[in-house]
Amino acid sequence: MLNNIEHIGIAVKNADESIQLFNALFNTKPYKEEAVLSEHVRTVFYKTGETKIELLQATHEDSAIAKFIDKKGEGMHHIAFAVNDIYAEITRLKAEGFVFINETPKQGADNKLIAFMHPKSSNGVLIELCQEIKG
Ligand code: ZN
Repeated sequence: MLNNIEHIGIAVKNADESIQLFNALFNTKPYKEEAVLSEHVRTVFYKTGETKIELLQATHEDSAIAKFIDKKGEGMHHIAFAVNDIYAEITRLKAEGFVFINETPKQGADNKLIAFMHPKSSNGVLIELCQEIKG
């Protein structure tokens, strides 16, 4: 099953500029910043109350974030749900007919194993499953 919303991802053109904006919005600074080299993205994480927000900036024109912003502009990019067993959830959701962008979980930002579902199979919403890597 899908647990709580782990974070919401927001695509931004320029994280340095967006950090100023989100610092003011949340009245706090990011708790983590991390480059995910395989995805060509720079991620910036905020925590406000129980909610985590991930800003994503493309670091290369081939990045999925660059393509997303070209098509749709800046804005909400994905919703990530925490799962206890990402492999079991992928198997379950595939059996329900959902399509994955990556069926094999990969290392994401913030010490997580992640898998993205194709938005075409979920009413246009890009859903990320993420499981905390223990130890
Ligand atoms: Zn994410």
